[in-house]
Amino acid sequence: MSQTEKLYEGKAKILYSTADSSILLTVYKDDATAFNAQKRGQIKGKGEINCQITAALFKWLESKDIPTHYIDCPQPNQMRVKAVTIVPIEVVVRNIAAGSLCRQTGLEEGQILSTPLVEYYFKSDELGDPLLTRDRIFLLDLVTPQRLAEIEDIARKINQNLQSFFDKCKITLVDFKLEFGIDAQQNLLLADEISPDTCRLWDQDQSDPKSRVMDKDRFRKDLGEVESAYQEVQQRVLAQLET
Ligand code: UDP
Repeated sequence: MSQTEKLYEGKAKILYSTADSSILLTVYKDDATAFNAQKRGQIKGKGEINCQITAALFKWLESKDIPTHYIDCPQPNQMRVKAVTIVPIEVVVRNIAAGSLCRQTGLEEGQILSTPLVEYYFKSDELGDPLLTRDRIFLLDLVTPQRLAEIEDIARKINQNLQSFFDKCKITLVDFKLEFGIDAQQNLLLADEISPDTCRLWDQDQSDPKSRVMDKDRFRKDLGEVESAYQEVQQRVLAQLET
């Protein structure tokens, strides 16, 4: 795959244009950041693992009628994707209270939510990704009400599918972040990635609150064994897809 111009370098991925303007190339990096890039490090092999997990889950979600931007992986840490305009909203779906939800509401970590919570954050590093309200979304003209309804529906559908999938991997899907893009035909496509960088995943075989963490919280909280946790997620996801 010929990569041409570097379009954008993010915290975990680099985006290149290709000879075909409708296709972009994403290169996944081993770099890890947390707390709006105040904490920086590397997780060895992460680029390849996250690329492979995302590819596997996006392919599987496509089979469940969820359109994604995924095309293929020319290299283990590279993904060709359909060119889309990214909606500047980070969509977070939560099944269990953790992270900022606990910090901001006082809910106890681990509390099961009676119904999944869908939240929207403004995708802005400068502003520190603040929580949005519906009215703020429309005030800022980020999406139309119809598009937001479509985003919420698809986010809930993705959650239902992923929750049962991860359950079969003996992993609890605590929460995760999604990004969406709009293609030239105005179709909404799931974009970006779904990986241990963007999900909270708890090992159902472990009851200890630290031992059960299989995601970026191991890096955020200096819990150690970050690489092996990411590898374990990849192994379980790929093994489940083979069954
Ligand atoms: N998340 C993400 N990117 C972000 C913010 C959050 O992928 O910029 C993911 C995070 O990994 C977790 C979920 O979204 O799975 C909810 O994150 P939360 O709002 O609890 O923020 P945190 O506690 O990580 O600051």
